[in-house]
Amino acid sequence: MTTHDTTIATFRVHPFPAEALECARAGEDASGNPPALIVAEGGEPLRCCLRDAEPGEELLLFGYEPPLPASPYREIGAVLAHARPCEGPAALDRYPAGWYGRPQVLRAYDARGWIHDATRVHDGQDPEGVIAAMLARPGVVEIHSRNVAYGCYMFTITRPDTPHEDA
Ligand SMILES: [Zn+2]
Repeated sequence: MTTHDTTIATFRVHPFPAEALECARAGEDASGNPPALIVAEGGEPLRCCLRDAEPGEELLLFGYEPPLPASPYREIGAVLAHARPCEGPAALDRYPAGWYGRPQVLRAYDARGWIHDATRVHDGQDPEGVIAAMLARPGVVEIHSRNVAYGCYMFTITRPDTPHEDA
């Protein structure tokens, strides 16, 4: 068994696209609507830095369309990010530290951008093993982590060598 400190990367976490952050910070989201400026209560999951917000941080709530091939399954949903330029995630070769133990939907997609039936609700335990098993399924090319009740997009995971729009 391995711990998340020593796990060899079998997947890559993709950073939130800089272009989408810049557009939101400039005042326009994926639907052309202005983002909402809010002050964090603490614990809001930040897609830019892949950590929870500290109380008092200024955030933008805005619509985002995760990149997928042209597909009926493309969708725009709400995400939270820092209102101003920020540091970004600590690491992209491992599961985000704050997401261990956090229930998520791991939604798998195929090369067409259609939802793949490897999709599952994940309890946050052993994400390395769960993700490796999902990526081993024929046809799975990427996985989107989303929260369970609201369904909001968190981040994208691929095999380490898979090209992706943000790369
Ligand atoms: Zn940030």
